[in-house]
Amino acid sequence: MKLYNTATRQREEFVPNDPNLVKMYTCGPTVYHYAHIGNLRSYIMEDILEKALRYSGYNVKRVMNITDVGHLASDADTGEDKMLKGAKRENKSVMEIAKFYTDAFFEDCRKLNIKRPDVVEPATNCIADYIHIIETLIEKGYAYAAGGNIYFDVSKLKQYYIFNDHDEEDLAVGVREGVEEDANKRNKNDFVLWFTKSKFEDQALKWDSPWGVGYPGWHIECSGISMKHLGEDLDIHCGGIDNAFPHHTNEIAQSESYLGHKWCNYWVHIHHLNTNSGKMSKSKGEFLTVSLLEEKGYDPLVYRLFCLQSHYRKNLVFSWENLDNAVITYNKLIAKIAALKPDDADEIDTAAFDELKVKFLDALGNDLNTALAITAVYDVLKYKTNDKTKLTVIGDFDRVLGLDLIAKADVKRREVAAAAPAAQSGDYAIIRESGDADAAVIAEIEEAIKQRAAAKKAKDYATADKIRADLAEKGVILEDIPKGTKYRIEI
Ligand SMILES: [Zn+2]
Repeated sequence: MKLYNTATRQREEFVPNDPNLVKMYTCGPTVYHYAHIGNLRSYIMEDILEKALRYSGYNVKRVMNITDVGHLASDADTGEDKMLKGAKRENKSVMEIAKFYTDAFFEDCRKLNIKRPDVVEPATNCIADYIHIIETLIEKGYAYAAGGNIYFDVSKLKQYYIFNDHDEEDLAVGVREGVEEDANKRNKNDFVLWFTKSKFEDQALKWDSPWGVGYPGWHIECSGISMKHLGEDLDIHCGGIDNAFPHHTNEIAQSESYLGHKWCNYWVHIHHLNTNSGKMSKSKGEFLTVSLLEEKGYDPLVYRLFCLQSHYRKNLVFSWENLDNAVITYNKLIAKIAALKPDDADEIDTAAFDELKVKFLDALGNDLNTALAITAVYDVLKYKTNDKTKLTVIGDFDRVLGLDLIAKADVKRREVAAAAPAAQSGDYAIIRESGDADAAVIAEIEEAIKQRAAAKKAKDYATADKIRADLAEKGVILEDIPKGTKYRIEI
């Protein structure tokens, strides 16, 4: 497998330190708010990377942190603690906020078919590990105390800006923010390892340390958690491109200074999701979450497909129109797979299977070319072999793609079968796809769906939309199909 390595700015053949186990680390979410779909693009692509490695025959151990302390509003150690900010906003404790948004994050991941990493570690679980690293850095002369805080001294390094010419825009922001304040720093890019003096008297989470009561800086947690679970040598570190500087640069600085040797071999960065007005952020424009997509009637897996259609190292532009195109692509693909009719008597054509698999692996091995991997699914559909083999191959590919292709095609097949008599009699088909409720509740739901169909027929779209929204509020999600509506009950 070839991967683009941000550290060398080259596409390289991936060779793990230990051929039997790939050690992979992912920067996790700061759990002070919902993740927006731009953040989730990174997690989708990292999930694909992990699954592609497993599919290629590697064992993988993947670790992810949950930032529940220490991430200030700016990546350059300034501004308010994001967790504290979230707690104030919602009038809850920091731990309540952390729990709530950690759960919300994994719920989004579940809907997007993102596998949970093997180890998920909240930053607050490993304070002793950070203290140990910081003590060593002080002993080795890489860190100093000033104004009550402990700083990493970047002037002690032979090389600091590992990623600097990769994303000049991010670097410029980091430097600008770094220059703004903090007279304690000896060099403008020095960063805080441990805070005892912060601007916030009411910092909620504090721990005792050799330097006084305080809390860790943001960057140290990823080094600490990675080394705790994956040891001194890491194969792949991934994250969003906005983490490349200063976060990953600082992770490298402190980890390699602590270890005295190279730490991580491959740095994989996922590029931004943009809107037409620029980079997506929580503060700008519409706050796009998985829940919002669902409210608007989109299957979260359509967003996953939308991400897979483009390369992870290109900025991807989100618009509702682009997402609608992905809906069309997804539905067509499912319909094509649903049209396959497996015959139990058929044998699996292993020669075809192997040939098709090679194409799929080539696409993934080409710096994770997911668009080409999707094309490989169409190649299966066109291939001259029996349907049973085609379905088996597609199901196999979907272990990586995670688009529920086989399950959705099964539903589609049943739908088509159920809708056929309805179409003949001119009736309107109402199909419950999943979920359950009392018979009375079901009858009520289906009556509302009939009323909505009538409103639509009368071109009274306001009423139709209101019925749809009212049902959505009750956890009933509608999807229109030819000559009917299907629905799922989610609560
Ligand atoms: Zn990190």
